[in-house]
Amino acid sequence: MTVAVVGGGISGLVVAWRLRSRGRDAVVLETSSRLGGAVGTREQQGFLLETGPNSFLDREPATRELASALNLEGRIRAADPAAKRRYVYTRGRLRSVPASPPAFLGSDILPLGAKLRVVGELFSGRAATGVDESLADFGRRHLGRTATRVLLDAVQTGIFAGDVERLSVGATFPQLVKLEREHRSLILGAIQAQRAQRKALPSGSTPKLSGALSTFEGGLGTLIDTLGASLGDAIHLGATVEGLTRVDGGWRLAVREQGRRAELDASQVVLAAPAYVTKGLLQPLDAELAARVGGIEYAPIAVVHLGFDAGTTPAPDGFGFLVPPAEGRRLLGAIHASTVFPFRVEAGRVLYTCMVGGAKRPDLVGLDEPALVALAREELKALAGVTATPSLTQVYRWPRGIPQYTVGHLERMAAVDQGLGRWPGLHLTGNAYKGVGLNDCIRNGLQLADTLVAAGP
Ligand SMILES: Cc1cc2nc3c(=O)[nH]c(=O)nc-3n(C[C@H](O)[C@H](O)[C@H](O)COP(=O)(O)OP(=O)(O)OC[C@H]3O[C@@H](n4cnc5c(N)ncnc54)[C@H](O)[C@@H]3O)c2cc1C
Repeated sequence: MTVAVVGGGISGLVVAWRLRSRGRDAVVLETSSRLGGAVGTREQQGFLLETGPNSFLDREPATRELASALNLEGRIRAADPAAKRRYVYTRGRLRSVPASPPAFLGSDILPLGAKLRVVGELFSGRAATGVDESLADFGRRHLGRTATRVLLDAVQTGIFAGDVERLSVGATFPQLVKLEREHRSLILGAIQAQRAQRKALPSGSTPKLSGALSTFEGGLGTLIDTLGASLGDAIHLGATVEGLTRVDGGWRLAVREQGRRAELDASQVVLAAPAYVTKGLLQPLDAELAARVGGIEYAPIAVVHLGFDAGTTPAPDGFGFLVPPAEGRRLLGAIHASTVFPFRVEAGRVLYTCMVGGAKRPDLVGLDEPALVALAREELKALAGVTATPSLTQVYRWPRGIPQYTVGHLERMAAVDQGLGRWPGLHLTGNAYKGVGLNDCIRNGLQLADTLVAAGP
């Protein structure tokens, strides 16, 4: 019998693709008329626009493996070197984020006292074990108030668009907790990790801690299109899963496909839809499990693209900028999309991709499109001095865009895993649980499919 995968975002597609490439039968049921969920690339007036994510860090073996199996390795495009620099808006202007410890000491990213406090991190202690701390509390213990407010909050804004006081450090940045546990100080831990990496490398080569920021030729939609093509008629678009019941030997799904009701029997079910949808499907089966899953919050986010014709505005330097929420501005940040991936525009054109909303300003995502465009233009003018009139404007809105791993998330996940033990053949995957990045979704999807294959038909 088949494995039914509910949701055709990157998570569900990866699970189904892996199952089928290992000889198992799988179908994808996707409610909308297109695959990809948050991921999608649109061509408009000669600009390549991303509906959600713009890039991934090319350092995840699972993503490489997937790209290679799909013959996409040669189509990975790394960011242009001009995108190396990153900016944070603080104390009234954009300031360059230093790329090394000596550069940090000489930079103006933080006032002198705050920089000295960061150096004092060398003397910070360990947290009590078993305590799930907020990212802000963790940051203040290690880096001090100002660095947390300016730098740490900017970093989480770029990934989670969240509230630094509510996010769990263990669930959002587990590597920081690991560094603290193993080395006490994050700085000492980072130095030792770099040393160990250097030792493991052939002499003369430099350690590479972070991969290159990348996309695919044609944008991230290329990955979705290729997965979709390889899955062929295993994909059902316009197929909304409305119910789930246990039957002898497996599961029965109630599906509304192209307006008609149908039933599908499956040996296993992978729920790869957003947590609030999964909650509804679980509710009649297991109210406790449904409540755990349904408790995962989402932050809304709007993506506002502003495209400029050649010669109307200068090409911005660097990847883009982030705005710490404490600055009280209306932008979370902006990506200099045409600097990062010049192939996404015709020569000389400039594309800014602005992010609005997040957990701290959910109200802004409810603005109508002209208001969102006006807001993005006003903020770009105030923060980055962009005064030209864009020839292209496009808004993509995600009312429940990014799952928020708030304090208690790890405990919640442990309870969800335990709850799933009551329902053999039922599995969850997707960005709501164990990582929001594309790399996380791909790694977790492949792992889940491999577990199903290993467990036999
Ligand atoms: C604005 C934005 C920017 C981002 N930027 C980045 C970035 O630069 N880099 C990065 O790594 N990550 C980024 N992310 C995160 C990343 O894009 C997502 O975490 C990831 O794409 C989620 O994939 P998913 O398949 O788990 O979920 P989704 O994409 O949400 O897919 C779930 C699918 O389930 C379908 N569905 C819902 N209900 C049903 C139903 N009843 N029956 C059938 N199907 C159903 C939905 O239509 C959807 O297609 C960004 C996210 C957003 C929103």
